[in-house]
Amino acid sequence: MRLVGGRVVDPAAGRDEVADILIEDGRIVDRATGTHESVIDVSGYVVAPGFVDLHCHLREPGYEDAETIASGTRAAAAGGFTTVCALADTRPSTDTGSDVEALLTQARRDAAVRVLPVGTTTKQRESDELSEMADMTEAGAVAFSDDGRAVRSARLMRHALEYSLLVERPISSHAEDPDLVDGGVMHEGPVATVLGLKGIPREAEEIAVARDLALARLTGGRLHLAHLSTAGAVEQVRRAKAAGVRVTAEVAPHNLVLSDAAIAERPYDTNARTDPPLRPREDARALLEGLRDGSIDCVATDHSPRRWIDKACEFDQALPGISALETAFGLLMRLVHNRELSLGELIAGLTHRPARAWGLPYGTLAAGSAADVVVLDPDQAWVVDPERFLSMGKNSPLAGQTLRGTVVLTIANGDIVYRNGL
Ligand SMILES: [Zn+2]
Repeated sequence: MRLVGGRVVDPAAGRDEVADILIEDGRIVDRATGTHESVIDVSGYVVAPGFVDLHCHLREPGYEDAETIASGTRAAAAGGFTTVCALADTRPSTDTGSDVEALLTQARRDAAVRVLPVGTTTKQRESDELSEMADMTEAGAVAFSDDGRAVRSARLMRHALEYSLLVERPISSHAEDPDLVDGGVMHEGPVATVLGLKGIPREAEEIAVARDLALARLTGGRLHLAHLSTAGAVEQVRRAKAAGVRVTAEVAPHNLVLSDAAIAERPYDTNARTDPPLRPREDARALLEGLRDGSIDCVATDHSPRRWIDKACEFDQALPGISALETAFGLLMRLVHNRELSLGELIAGLTHRPARAWGLPYGTLAAGSAADVVVLDPDQAWVVDPERFLSMGKNSPLAGQTLRGTVVLTIANGDIVYRNGL
């Protein structure tokens, strides 16, 4: 296959130029040897490495009424993602080597894009004992996380980080002090007060981040901080990195682009309830600064599809989360259109930077790489209609909003897995 005439943006190689991309036998190649190659004219479009998502909830096994590996990975393809790391908060949770194998078997059968399992840090995410990290690593787990919950015990988190050195996989932390969350449902501040909703202070995150950074320093282990949401958390990571602590961090598109004003504009819209919550604009600005200066390594969607019934209720009863895969690129492009981030920086944050954070061999168009490619129209405007999502999760606070930036073609491992107008 030959993609002809596009603007190739491959930040891993420092490339931004009009060029052709050649694909053979599922790999990017320098020159084609085949004779019957198909040609796709992509002139006028941006050609980038397929996006890599370190944080994605696919819900299978156990919650197939919210999402399946089939539907979630089709949504990923539509969003330009060719690698998704599947979090472990399924039923059963991904606790053992055989759980990892079962997930990979199901993915081989159903998935449109590459699925990389994330195992739990503690069994059933109960913070009682560590999961079988060595067995899971052997079976193909790329990281460990109790995401959806914090690891409550500092002692267990310490041991998990010690183990991370043996298995050479990061421990991804949902850094949030559950006692301080205390039933809160949005950011603690004026908007919550006006709406009469219980707030979650920034300190719920910042205290947990401080603990985990201290334990990473103590153990030398590999810490990854999921979905940072506050300016203070970014500053802590910045200092820890400067001091040589082995930490990487991600930010979700909604925490980067939206703020708790979204809840004020559409009061009680349960689709804007997220965990961690949307914070004020100054936090979003600090997160963006952190992404630009490398304190935050990458963007990760925290795709959290929910059943209709889990959002069709009172704000404080609703389950948190956004069905995010299909809106991530368009939402993030707001930063590019507003000249707050360059297109190259955005693509880096979605490709080689997440791959590098976890040592994954993806997120580049270098010859010899897996042929994971996305073709983008950065300017095309579209109106978000969740009913048209390929994800089963229709929960999006962006419903009815106009975004500028679409995915027109996604190729995963050399196969076209999504096509929209090309
Ligand atoms: Zn989380």
